[in-house]
Amino acid sequence: MKKIPFVTREQVEEIARSYPTPFYLYDEAGIRRNAQAVRDAFAWNPGFREYFAVKATPNPYLMDILKEYDCGFDCSSEAELKLSEAVGADGPHIMFSSNETPAHEYEVALKLGAIINLDDITHIPFLEKIILGLLEQGYGYDESGMKLVPGGRVPEEGKVFPKKMSCRYNPGGVFRMSNGIMDNPGDSKYGFTKEQLFEGFRILKERGVEDFGIHAFLASNTVTNEYYPTLASQLFALAVELHRDVEVHMAFVNLSGGVGVAYKPEAKPNDIAEIGAGVHRVYEEIFAPEGMDDVAVYTEMGRFMMAPYGALITKVIHEKHIYKEYIGVDACAANLMRPAMYGAYHHITVLGKENELRDHKYDVAGSLCENNDKFAIDRILPEVEKGDYLFIHDAGAHGFAMGYNYNGRLWSAELLLREDGSVKLIRRAQTLRDYFATFDGSPYFDRIDFEG
Ligand SMILES: *Cc1c(COP(=O)(O)O)cnc(C)c1O
Repeated sequence: MKKIPFVTREQVEEIARSYPTPFYLYDEAGIRRNAQAVRDAFAWNPGFREYFAVKATPNPYLMDILKEYDCGFDCSSEAELKLSEAVGADGPHIMFSSNETPAHEYEVALKLGAIINLDDITHIPFLEKIILGLLEQGYGYDESGMKLVPGGRVPEEGKVFPKKMSCRYNPGGVFRMSNGIMDNPGDSKYGFTKEQLFEGFRILKERGVEDFGIHAFLASNTVTNEYYPTLASQLFALAVELHRDVEVHMAFVNLSGGVGVAYKPEAKPNDIAEIGAGVHRVYEEIFAPEGMDDVAVYTEMGRFMMAPYGALITKVIHEKHIYKEYIGVDACAANLMRPAMYGAYHHITVLGKENELRDHKYDVAGSLCENNDKFAIDRILPEVEKGDYLFIHDAGAHGFAMGYNYNGRLWSAELLLREDGSVKLIRRAQTLRDYFATFDGSPYFDRIDFEG
C-alpha cells in the first residue's frame, strides 16, 4: 500500500517556523479513527478493554485521547504507573504487566488498585510480603478489594491478595501459525510454565484471589490477521482447563500486544475488524460450550495503536559523496533507534517530492559517532537536496520512547497535529539545562553557560 504522509511540505515548513526540527508529529485524527476501529472490532465482547502499552508512546496528551475510547493503560514501571495516574486512570483501567519487578513498584500498583499480572511464580510470596508490609502500616482494601488505602478493610488472615489478578503464561517451545514459526517463547524470559500456572492459581485462590486472568505475548509485530485468533484459541482452551481443574472464575484473557503494522509499503496492513471477528469465532467455539460467557477479552496493543500515527520529521542538512552517497539529517538514532538497533525498516517520504522519480540511492545518516546511525541504507529516493524535510513513517510507537542521550544528543519535541489542522506542543524539546540537571548542586553546573 502506498505510504502517504499525514502532512504536506507546506504544513511542515509552517510548523518548523515555531518548532525547529527534528520533532515528532502525531496525527490526532488517525489515532482517533483507529481507537474507534479497535473498539468496534471487539464490541461483541461486553468486557473488552484495550490497555494501551504505555511504553510505546509515554505521552499523557496521547494517553488522554485514548482514554476517551475507554482504553486502559498497560504499565511496567513506576513512571508508567504515574503517567496513568496523571491522566486520571482508575484502578480497573491500569494493568501492571511487569517483570523482574522492584518491590516499590508493586507498592505503587497496589495503592493505585491496578490489576497485577504476575510474571513468575516466585512473585507470589514476593508480593505477599509487600502486601503484609502495607497492612502492617495501616493500609487495607477499599470496597473494590483491589486498592490498598490507609485505614481500609483488613483482609481475613491468609487471604491478603487483591480480588482480581492474573498470571503471564509462557508455553515454551515455538509458536506456530499456518505460515510457519512466528516466535520462540521457549527462549524468552517471560511468564509461568504451564505447571507453574496451575500451581500459582491454586495458591492465589487460597490467598484470596476470586477473579482470575491469564496473559501471554508470544510473537511481536505480527503482520497477519491470524495472530490474535491463534493465540486466543490457545489461551481460551487453557482458561477452560484452569476453570475446570482449579475451579476458579476466569474473569479475563489478556491477548497482550504483538499486533503489528505494515512498515514496508509492500506489506498488507492488519485488519482489526477481521482480527476481532477471528477472536469472536474462537470465543464462541471454546467458551460457549463451557457456559463461560462472561470472560472479558483484554488487549495491550502499543504499536498498533500509535505507530502509523506518528512520524519523525527531520531536515536534510548535509550531502556527502564518498564511496557511497549520504544524506545527513538533523535527527539521529538517539531520536529513533529502531533502524540502528533492529535494522528496522522505516519508510521515508521526501516531503514535496512525493510524485518525483525515485532514481537516487542514499544512506540517510544521523550525527552519532556510531556507524549504525542510519535511518536507511541503500534507499531509493528522489533526488534529495539540503533543506528538504524527510517524513520518517510509522515512528509513533517505540520511537520517541526509546530515545536516549548518547553523544549528548537531546530529545526532540513532540507535537500533535489536531483534527482542525492546528498544532499543539505536547512535550517540549529537552534543553541543555535538562541534560545537565542531574549535576545540579555540583560546582560544574554553575559554570555552564546555558545560553551561549
Ligand atoms: C511491549 C508490550 C506490549 C505492547 O506491544 P506492542 O507490540 O507494541 O503491541 C504489551 N504488553 C506487554 C507486557 C509488553 O511488554
